[in-house]
Amino acid sequence: KEETNIQPRSDEKVVLSNKNVLEGAPALSEYWSLFDSNDAIFNASRTAQAATVIFAVEQTSQIEQLARFIHTLRRQRGTALKIVVREMVASLRATDERLLLGCGANLVVPWNAPLSRCLTLVESVQKQQFHRHVPDEINTLLALTQPLKLRGYQKWDVFCAAVHDIMNNPLLPADNKGVMVALRPVPGLRVEQALTLCRPNRFGDIMTIGNNRLVLFLTFCRVNDLDTALNHIFPLPTGDIFSNRMIWFEDKQITAEIVEMQAVTAERWTTPLPFTIGRSEVMNAAHDGRSWRRIPEPHRLADTKRGEKA
Ligand code: C2E
Ligand code: C2E
Ligand code: C2E
Repeated sequence: KEETNIQPRSDEKVVLSNKNVLEGAPALSEYWSLFDSNDAIFNASRTAQAATVIFAVEQTSQIEQLARFIHTLRRQRGTALKIVVREMVASLRATDERLLLGCGANLVVPWNAPLSRCLTLVESVQKQQFHRHVPDEINTLLALTQPLKLRGYQKWDVFCAAVHDIMNNPLLPADNKGVMVALRPVPGLRVEQALTLCRPNRFGDIMTIGNNRLVLFLTFCRVNDLDTALNHIFPLPTGDIFSNRMIWFEDKQITAEIVEMQAVTAERWTTPLPFTIGRSEVMNAAHDGRSWRRIPEPHRLADTKRGEKA
């Protein structure tokens, strides 16, 4: 009789997990299967329907592959599958998390949640149906993690056009596209001198000078993280270099300010000092097999004849 009534066995209680997620603990019940790698989990999940799948992420280089796995599983296996990512060590930017969720993960457990909290969070997605829309093309989602293909100093009009484009991209999160900040140098310091101290590292961070101010746009930076980012970008406390700052972070505010900036005529744009131009184009870096590392270079302090008076 049983054979005549073959139903696909519900795999609702099954958990397919990366073994690192349990930090060395054995499988928690008969329903758990542990795998050595995310690839192995992915292969085992290709027939799953309502199981819980737990991937681990240990380094930035795994993110894109993981996004592809999650995207495929969500598109092919449907809405009952519970897809979880546990970040094992701090390695995800907010944009990475957004990417994984956009590809169809139910939950990303942050690195600083201990195992017990992680397991409670995994319980919290049981019986959950995934309702968010996942685009057919993963490249749409990947492109959104790096919307601006620029870094460093830009001419005033190029800067304005770039920020304008970001603001008008409907696929980027509303009011969460980045922070724009305008800085006025302390008396005695010219804005083109202040520019030599502004060294953005992250791709997508751009600045310009004009109207006696330095304007920075930090892609995807949140306003509460602005000081952290500025500390990465300037070698000195910004209070020592600038006497005044204005900040915009909502789409409407940034757009309105860009309109004002576009009205500033070319004679008020400031030209950078000659040795600043092009400096950030070369990133003195080498790949050590795991990630890009910058290589220290000897530097001579600017002498007063060439570097203007301080
Ligand atoms: P954190 O260094 O404390 O930075 C916190 C947040 O400040 C970042 O969150 C980001 O929104 C903003 N932020 C910091 N520095 C910059 C910057 O140079 N440019 C821009 N546009 N924003 C910046 P996020 O992106 O979610 O990153 C979270 C944490 O992940 C960071 O905390 C850091 O510990 C780590 N992280 C992210 N990206 C990198 C990286 O490229 N290299 C290193 N070494 N760590 C990174
Ligand atoms: P990138 O985004 O152009 O960032 C270049 C460098 O800026 C980083 O070099 C790091 O020294 C600095 N930086 C950028 N954002 C942050 C931040 O939030 N906190 C801190 N402390 N430093 C920051 P690094 O670390 O050697 O990384 C090189 C490249 O590797 C990065 O270039 C990025 O493409 C990638 N990367 C590193 N960490 C992350 C990450 O957490 N998420 C993503 N999506 N990419 C990362
Ligand atoms: P940190 O000094 O704040 O550096 C943050 C990140 O900026 C590093 O992340 C790396 O991506 C980049 N970075 C900073 N300085 C250098 C450098 O001289 N060369 C290269 N190639 N990249 C650099 P990372 O690699 O994850 O290191 C995290 C932290 O671990 C560093 O924070 C630092 O406190 C320590 N650390 C890492 N490597 C070394 C090292 O070789 N010597 C020392 N003394 N500390 C290191």
